[in-house]
Amino acid sequence: MTKPVVAIVGRPNVGKSTIFNRIVGERVSIVEDTPGVTRDRIYSTGEWLNREFNIIDTGGIEIGDEPFLSQIRYQAEIAIDEADVIIFMVNGRDGISNADEEVAKILYRSNKPVVLAVNKVDNPEQQTLVYDFYSLGFGTPYGISGSHGLGLGDLLDEVFKSFPEENEEEYDEGTIKFSLIGRPNVGKSSLVNTILGEERVIVSDIAGTTRDAIDSMFTRDGQDYVIIDTAGMRKRGKIYETTEKYSVLRAMRGIERSDVVLVVIDGEEGIIEQDKKVAGYAHEAGKAVVIVVNKWDAVEKDDKTMRVFEQKIRDHFLFLSYAPIVFLSAKTKQRLHTLLPVVNTVAENHALRVKTNILNELIMDSVAMNPTPTDNGKRLKINYATQVAVKPPTIVLFVNDPELLHFSYRRFLENRIRETFGFQGTPLRIFARRKS
Ligand code: GDP
Ligand code: GDP
Repeated sequence: MTKPVVAIVGRPNVGKSTIFNRIVGERVSIVEDTPGVTRDRIYSTGEWLNREFNIIDTGGIEIGDEPFLSQIRYQAEIAIDEADVIIFMVNGRDGISNADEEVAKILYRSNKPVVLAVNKVDNPEQQTLVYDFYSLGFGTPYGISGSHGLGLGDLLDEVFKSFPEENEEEYDEGTIKFSLIGRPNVGKSSLVNTILGEERVIVSDIAGTTRDAIDSMFTRDGQDYVIIDTAGMRKRGKIYETTEKYSVLRAMRGIERSDVVLVVIDGEEGIIEQDKKVAGYAHEAGKAVVIVVNKWDAVEKDDKTMRVFEQKIRDHFLFLSYAPIVFLSAKTKQRLHTLLPVVNTVAENHALRVKTNILNELIMDSVAMNPTPTDNGKRLKINYATQVAVKPPTIVLFVNDPELLHFSYRRFLENRIRETFGFQGTPLRIFARRKS
């Protein structure tokens, strides 16, 4: 099921990123501990009334060295393209500025629902500041305070009202949906074209949405696949080409609809920092991951080249240690046949459900082999384990005190679970919950 998307627009300094961070909250991010990865984020997940949604801070999207007004116009256009609901944010202390009116003009031209948020209304006396903003023509202005966290509930209630109905799965359960991500020029579109070139393909604009995502469906050896055109690979525009943040955003939107993400690397050029960042998004989204080293035709090789490259990948992508690596060439089709079988395997593992009794036996065995840690004389006690979800597989350990499950012991258990059940290509989520 796809989550609704909310975008925040408004001129600089009205408090967009402050509100974004409030809405996203302190989400635990594994990748964030990796230097240089997912810093200054503009895209994340929030939750309101038990419904998850994605949220974009368009203020973080900088378009080359365009002048100020075109920047905010572009940002408003991106919001219209990407979002189901737009939060238009202004600064209550400044009154309506020219830049606010520019944003408003663009938003008038779309038919997306807009909720007007008047920020920096830090106390009830300042509530009168909001009335001026009725004249912008977006209905009731909601007074909020990002720094004090006031008024957010009412704002989100209003946003929630405009969410689309929860929709059904778009494809049959057994269909494997995958997308390709990677920095520009690694060969994503070439690879898509090569894969599709061999198949009878049905290309569709996804039903019922106005977003320009293009899905390509094909069947190979009885298995149905959909390639989700992530970064608008076949629809390149000026904004996409020049804006890293926007292309990342598009990639993340595609990741979300996928079961499997192919992280494409340029074998000829090698790994650079940007690859790591892109891979971090795939990991964090909890999708199955395959690392694809493309342009293998252009690499001078001897019998050690592949192993050396593989080691480099392992050193650079520590957090993707579960992801298998495929070497191929989109151009010459060298080793292309190795790709889909790996996609099948990781998709299967991503949806794998293990039996509770076998899982518990494994946990007991593991504890016998390597006793649980103690902290201040208190020992971790694991009473029971169960897999509560798939995609990705998620395991809950019922324990006497969740604080006692330290990183190293969690990793020990994860390794044991992986040794026993496979789970190649999929992240595993392991949580501890208190129950004595
Ligand atoms: P953005 O450029 O729209 O993302 O704005 P920021 O979130 O970076 O905020 C700009 C400035 O306004 C920062 O100095 C914030 O601390 C401040 N700010 C944000 N929200 C509030 C608020 O509700 N009240 C007040 N007084 N200041 C705020
Ligand atoms: P994208 O930006 O990731 O979609 O990359 P493209 O598919 O546009 O490819 C970028 C460039 O790399 C183009 O000039 C392609 O011809 C070239 N390219 C793509 N795949 C291969 C490959 O397997 N081998 C070689 N030698 N070049 C490739």
